[in-house]
Amino acid sequence: MHFDLDGACFVDTAQGGELPAVIARDRVLDWRTLHREAQAWCEEARRLGLGEDMPIVIRGHKEAAFMVALTGALMLRAPFVPVDTVYPQERLNSITGILDAHLLYDAGAGRFESLRGGPGRALAEQGLCYVMFTSGTTGQPKGVQIGREGVRGLIDWMRLDFGLGERPVFLDQTVFSFDVSLYDVFGTLALGGTIMMLDRQDAASPLKVASLIAEHGVTTWVSTPSFAQQQLINPGFSQAALPSLRTFVFCGEPLPVPLCRQLRKRFPEVPLLNTYGPTEATVATTLLVVEDAMLQADTPLPIGHAKRGSQVYCDEGELCIAGPHVMRGYINRPDLNETRMFMREGQRGFRTGDLGSEAGDGMLFCHGRIDDQIKLHGYRLELMEVDAALSALPGARACAAVALRKPNGAVVRLVAFVEMGQEAAALPPELADWKGLLAARLPHYMIPSELLPCAQLPVSVNYKTDRARLAQLYEALNA
Ligand code: AMP
Repeated sequence: MHFDLDGACFVDTAQGGELPAVIARDRVLDWRTLHREAQAWCEEARRLGLGEDMPIVIRGHKEAAFMVALTGALMLRAPFVPVDTVYPQERLNSITGILDAHLLYDAGAGRFESLRGGPGRALAEQGLCYVMFTSGTTGQPKGVQIGREGVRGLIDWMRLDFGLGERPVFLDQTVFSFDVSLYDVFGTLALGGTIMMLDRQDAASPLKVASLIAEHGVTTWVSTPSFAQQQLINPGFSQAALPSLRTFVFCGEPLPVPLCRQLRKRFPEVPLLNTYGPTEATVATTLLVVEDAMLQADTPLPIGHAKRGSQVYCDEGELCIAGPHVMRGYINRPDLNETRMFMREGQRGFRTGDLGSEAGDGMLFCHGRIDDQIKLHGYRLELMEVDAALSALPGARACAAVALRKPNGAVVRLVAFVEMGQEAAALPPELADWKGLLAARLPHYMIPSELLPCAQLPVSVNYKTDRARLAQLYEALNA
């Protein structure tokens, strides 16, 4: 039994109905139960006015009902908008406002919430599969609109080029509001596999992670490299102890060579896949199957080759992507769509903002960002969004977030400076609870670990906040 995206329905329903489809901390659903619950969810959603092309916001954290709702939305051809509970209410409000969404499904409570009266409204863009919100420089999240054609390409790519085998069992660790989790969602549904969800509590314990992999026979590891790195503390994270694991799929940030070397030692026969791409191009666009020869030197790994039916190339040093899997645009942001999107040979294109290069054989490399977008523990965030939230604090006139990096460029921590207009040793009293105030607006991973006063924020020659000088200032203060 599996789910057919084009037909928006379950197929082969006479076979494998008793196999697990969803394993969550709260419940395990076999395929037959997923089918039945998704149908019931659709009926209720339809009764509440949800229909084709109308957005449905799904909020929760790794409940079995989250997967039921995602599947139900696919059946109704209603674009789903996943929002993890890591997002505070204010961010949820701005997401529902941007979408003008009518309905929300709370997967934790297992019920629908009407967001505004009146019938639901279809989005201007039709045939979307989902809308994923990412950090935006203006302080508002950006809604990335992904069409069904993009997801079809993702599924074909996984089926043909990832070597996942029959009925893969996915380790689903990243939150549903981060599109890496969609490897697990669509992989499970299309290939008739199983999604084994890890909630935050389980994910924080490497021993628990390993025991769940062993218990449920997980075959396919999907995560950012940072999450795999955390597991190395457990000596039982090895092929001998976890023989069911047959593929590592990485995405979301650079895959470090030292991590690959350690994984090679622990899991000598398990392929390591490095996939790269922005949310704006349906989860990922390039694939590299790591070879031993690539791990001899300390030079960064390439990101591989473009997926079937897509083009990736460098334009003035910037990686650009074209293909049917490129988004239909940011919702209600014609300004950004104008500058970041283009047409190439009849296909939609996107300028990634990543610095890149291409070797003679078409092998691609990513050398980091052109702008202020960073990755911290696998989360994507815009420093300017953090700046905007900081500057809205009482008594703060100008603020800047700074990413502190290791010598290899990886971000280890976020700190921030607030301009005081004069030398000041301490923050003013109204900023005493700055972390609490920020938490109302930002998810925890966007909150700097320290806020320091400074007389004036330094600026660069083009009058942008000079974050490099602030990082030096931080080092000097802590020397
Ligand atoms: P997101 O939209 O959250 O997936 O973040 C996309 C950005 O993460 C890309 O534009 C890159 O800057 C970075 N990224 C994602 N995957 C990789 C990778 N395999 N290697 C290097 N950078 C990556």
